[in-house]
Amino acid sequence: MLRSKLLKALILGAPASGKGTISTRIVKKYAIEHVSSGDKLRDHIERKTDLGKEVQSYLSEGKLVPDDVIIKFMVAELKKVENQAWLLDGFPRTVTQANALWKLQPVDVVLNLVVPFDIIIDRVKNRWIHLSSGRVYNIGFNTPKVIGKDDVTGEDLIQRPDDKPDAVKKRLEIYDRMTRPVIDFYLEKGILKNFEGKTSDEIWPKVTQYLDSLKL
Ligand code: ATP
Ligand code: MG
Repeated sequence: MLRSKLLKALILGAPASGKGTISTRIVKKYAIEHVSSGDKLRDHIERKTDLGKEVQSYLSEGKLVPDDVIIKFMVAELKKVENQAWLLDGFPRTVTQANALWKLQPVDVVLNLVVPFDIIIDRVKNRWIHLSSGRVYNIGFNTPKVIGKDDVTGEDLIQRPDDKPDAVKKRLEIYDRMTRPVIDFYLEKGILKNFEGKTSDEIWPKVTQYLDSLKL
């Protein structure tokens, strides 16, 4: 796809609001790079790298990785894709991170997924992921063709330790306290766009309509 400018987009939303699902659809339709901080950290944990060992307990408890660690990591990751259009997912999560990102690369659009909390809590109970690709399945909504297996590779699906009810509660608390101010940060920049809905299928048409209107 020809573009006059490389799109630098961001997706925000509470834990399990469908960021992963919507992101996967966006990168497929618009052929841009998906940069997910959570997927990258889980990959480091899986590979038992130094970073993986350092961040493991934060993830399993549903806490935020310290700003200095995640900023250093994501700045390096974003350097790798600086000449590509990208969609950033999971970063920034604090105003400190948002400021660091803005200094490195001001973003063009921010998509904010707005999903009621009770629906989120219900949803994570049924969530399964394919670790190496980040593909997300929800039993009853987008059920894998074979239960417990990835549609594309046939590999095992896992449930995330931070999808346990206690960790989810913690993540939602942290989201309210730390990440809501990030929404205000982008509201003030005039680039935030809200998308409301109970399911990703409800939200998706609104997102494509908006992205199409940008004439990428
Ligand atoms: P979902 O991907 O379903 O929307 P989520 O937003 O909670 O849920 P991820 O984005 O995958 O999940 O992040 C998982 C965990 O990784 C977080 O709970 C946190 O511990 C860590 N993490 C990811 N990104 C950041 C960040 N920007 N700052 C601090 N910690 C982070
Ligand atoms: Mg995610």
